[in-house]
Amino acid sequence: MNERDRLKKETKRLTEEILNLEGANRKLNERLIELYILYQLTRQLSLSLNLNELFERAMNLIQDVLHLDEYSIMLLNDESGLLEIRASRGLSDDIVARGRVKSGEGLSGKVAALGKPVLVADLSTNDTYIYYPGSGKRKGSYLGIPLLARDGRIFGVLNLHNSDPAGFNEKDLRLFQAAAEQVSISLDNALTFQMTKELTNRDELTKLYNRRYFFERLEKEVERAKRYQRKLSLLMIDIDHFKNYNDTFGHLHGDDVLRQIGQALEKNLRKVDVIARYGGEEFLALLPETDKKSAKRVGEKLRKAVEKADFHSKVSELGPGKIAITIGISAFPDDCQDALELLDLADKAMYYGKVQGRNRVCAELPSKK
Ligand code: GH3
Ligand code: MG
Ligand code: MG
Repeated sequence: MNERDRLKKETKRLTEEILNLEGANRKLNERLIELYILYQLTRQLSLSLNLNELFERAMNLIQDVLHLDEYSIMLLNDESGLLEIRASRGLSDDIVARGRVKSGEGLSGKVAALGKPVLVADLSTNDTYIYYPGSGKRKGSYLGIPLLARDGRIFGVLNLHNSDPAGFNEKDLRLFQAAAEQVSISLDNALTFQMTKELTNRDELTKLYNRRYFFERLEKEVERAKRYQRKLSLLMIDIDHFKNYNDTFGHLHGDDVLRQIGQALEKNLRKVDVIARYGGEEFLALLPETDKKSAKRVGEKLRKAVEKADFHSKVSELGPGKIAITIGISAFPDDCQDALELLDLADKAMYYGKVQGRNRVCAELPSKK
């Protein structure tokens, strides 16, 4: 081989090496960008324990870093067993309103059932819907990634939609899967946090709100009523002769009655009303936007509901179980302007109802008569 040939060969070798290096460099850059995206996701999402804020951030980040047209987070509703859209971008109002699927059905349901990502490169060749049967044939590509809790349970699906057919490739899959992992961790934390917070607001026996939470709400609602010059009423509800009941039928049946009365009260109130167990056999109900006259009507409704209920239907050997309640009512702003005073007045009205013979609704104090 002469000098010229050797140089030629060497040049060729060097050129190849440069190309290889350039390739490696490109790959490294891509990897670096991926890592940067993930770093951003982790950093920003981990700052948030509030669910709504988290959804907002996750949606913005997907927009900023993944540049997609349509995407959504669906969460599994434990009660209905359905996947429901909890946050989304780019979806029509109709899809957001109607989008819910059973696990195993549609593309998002398939992701949840498999617990693995599903990639459909060209949706026009696929007959399955994403959000609900008949949600329309779509163009482009779809990537669905399961959201996994720490214990491996699937609690939702991240749906990503790219209007280009073949808009997702294997490399995207790896990146999006890692992104979904970050969303999962943050969501799992936020859900656990929310559940724990919710539990600390609840009474263990009846699952109604506890007194601590009730007072928090009462203060806020009184403030609100003051600021906007609205009315509100407070009901103090006490079971009549409950000691006798416990002595006769035992505390376990007594506990059962407390639970049933709690449910009966809740069922007969509006969603905006706040019902809590005050302690023992006493309950509190806060009725926003309700004057004393209407509160009396509500109180009568509650009293009748308890009076006509048979609390022994489940434990028939005890025979028919009749229970009654006495309710005391106070109202803002007519009776007073202060949360604690309102509570005190409702309590006094309740005791006055007891004195008058129980099983009644009382909204006045003796001195006012
Ligand atoms: P009154 O009509 O005057 O309200 O009579 P009462 O017997 O209901 O009132 P009292 O305050 O004397 O007794 C309340 C009873 O409520 C005492 C207790 O046996 C019962 N009680 C309080 N908390 C619980 C509970 O968590 N479970 C059960 N089973 N009973 C409870
Ligand atoms: Mg009592
Ligand atoms: Mg009582």
